[in-house]
Amino acid sequence: LEDEKRRVLKQAFGFDEFRPGQERVIDALLAGRDVLAVMPTGAGKSLCYQVPALVMGGLAIVVSPLIALMQDQVAGLLLDGVQAEAIHSAKSREENVASWRRVASGEAKLLYLAPERLMTERMLQALSRLPVSLIAIDEAHCVSQWGHSFRAEYLSLGKAREALPGARMVALTATADQTTQDDILQKLFDGRADAFVAGFDRPNISISVAEKRDVGQAIEAYVASRPGMSGVIYRISRKKVDETTARLQARGVKALAYHAGMDAADRAAAQETFLAEPGVVMVATVAFGMGIDKSDVRFVLHGDAPGSLEAYYQEIGRAGRDGEPAEALMFYGLEDIRTRRRFIDEQDSAPERKRMEAQRLDALVGFCETTACRRATLLAYFGETSKPCGNCDVCLDPPEVVDGTTEARLLLGL
Ligand code: ADP
Ligand code: MG
Ligand code: ZN
Repeated sequence: LEDEKRRVLKQAFGFDEFRPGQERVIDALLAGRDVLAVMPTGAGKSLCYQVPALVMGGLAIVVSPLIALMQDQVAGLLLDGVQAEAIHSAKSREENVASWRRVASGEAKLLYLAPERLMTERMLQALSRLPVSLIAIDEAHCVSQWGHSFRAEYLSLGKAREALPGARMVALTATADQTTQDDILQKLFDGRADAFVAGFDRPNISISVAEKRDVGQAIEAYVASRPGMSGVIYRISRKKVDETTARLQARGVKALAYHAGMDAADRAAAQETFLAEPGVVMVATVAFGMGIDKSDVRFVLHGDAPGSLEAYYQEIGRAGRDGEPAEALMFYGLEDIRTRRRFIDEQDSAPERKRMEAQRLDALVGFCETTACRRATLLAYFGETSKPCGNCDVCLDPPEVVDGTTEARLLLGL
């Protein structure tokens, strides 16, 4: 299932990495549990049910309070080549009948419905004859009188599970304080579901970006000044991984290489050593890290820029899982960005996909070049608003604001 969910993420949606919070929700559903997920707006809640829907097979029912939301989602899925249907009052009877046919035949993988339509006797009966694997309740705060947009039609949704006992259920919302969460858990799940609240911040990781110059030397100096610490160094290519590893080893550092060009046995041995022994520095490509749970990684160093902020967040998240201070440092140079842009241009994929990847790269550049708090910039990308953190390079050492006009005058001798 691990491979399957990543394959779906990549093939159906074109993403390489899950965003913070998504994987936990997906894993719990795939393990057969019901879930309440509270994640900020823009965090990517839709994929939390769309990916499991495709991995589980059968039909997923998505309850959404607004026709406009359903239409957006279905249009988006169809663009991604995922068969989805919506049945609602803004469509003609004929259109709704045609949609139902594609649902009943098994062609459609997701069906979007308003709560009142799902909860009709006829609909529940018809659905009970189909292999419904998942019920997703979007904007689940509507179930709670405590929430800001109570919808009476949401109250009875808990009964959908009785009618469709084979289905898992997931409820998603961006806005639910503790009282609202408890209320949702009671009303939809009789109190029995895993609740995940994703705040994305990892305040113990200090975040810095430094200009990339003689990166081999910079990495060596960085590691030498942190003797005995476990760390991960990401490099963009196998060749650079091997070069960096050799250089660190020559300096007496317990450095190990990890990339997809090595045999499986060597890779497994490197990973084993990294997990078991203290003070090992793993030099790796993106191939390393998935599912690695080592609590005392003290630094994650990016020798080259990652491809997106999603990848960056995942990678730095491997530091400081024990909650103790840890560091994330990225060496950033425009040459890397040019290389990454070229990768995107040269890749053989649809124009929209290229445009999307280019936008994600732009977001990374924005993060590297920001003069605002690094962490706040990163969290904002995932939809979370926060104050300046006090634990990033910008907060600790604010860039001087250069008065461009004065400088230009001086330069031009005016
Ligand atoms: P929410 O419902 O939490 O507000 P959405 O599900 O609408 O968020 O997703 C917000 C945006 O994030 C969408 O454009 C979506 O394509 C994008 N997104 C979601 N998951 C990922 C991911 N793993 N990698 C990159 N982008 C993602
Ligand atoms: Mg949403
Ligand atoms: Zn900061």
